[in-house]
Amino acid sequence: MTMTTLISPELNKAFNEEIGRELFASHQYIAIACYFDGRALKKLAALFFKQADEEREHAMKFVEYLNEVGGKVEVPAIEAPKSDFQSAEEAVRLALEWEIEVTNRINDLMTMAIEQKDYAAQEFLDWFVKEQVEEVSTMQDLLQIVQQVGEHYLIMVEAYLSHGGGE
Ligand code: MG
Repeated sequence: MTMTTLISPELNKAFNEEIGRELFASHQYIAIACYFDGRALKKLAALFFKQADEEREHAMKFVEYLNEVGGKVEVPAIEAPKSDFQSAEEAVRLALEWEIEVTNRINDLMTMAIEQKDYAAQEFLDWFVKEQVEEVSTMQDLLQIVQQVGEHYLIMVEAYLSHGGGE
């Protein structure tokens, strides 16, 4: 008996690549969190540790979806993240740039699902389309705050985050 597969080999492959990008984001955010922790900026560190957990959850959503539709999960090799930063601005800008990249790739996956008339995949990807708007917005706001406050007054960003900013 052959196993029924509800996903095309092309989309399956593209989903595996997205698992890699989500896991890379998770690793990159751990590295950024540690950079802030090293500067005793605990709230910024906590924000990025939380983002790292969320990115792993994103990867797992793709894993679970592939398992559900009888696809094949192949976790790709994950490149080492950047661990050294000259400034908070550099670290947050890297996060923003990565979220923009992931947004573009999620849009590509949606385009592929539409072209293949894979309605289940479209519904699944819908959540990610919305999530990416939030992710980009969060990082964009944080970058603006960090830029306005300036490198020497990052303690004020900590106070901002203590009062529910960045959520
Ligand atoms: Mg993500």
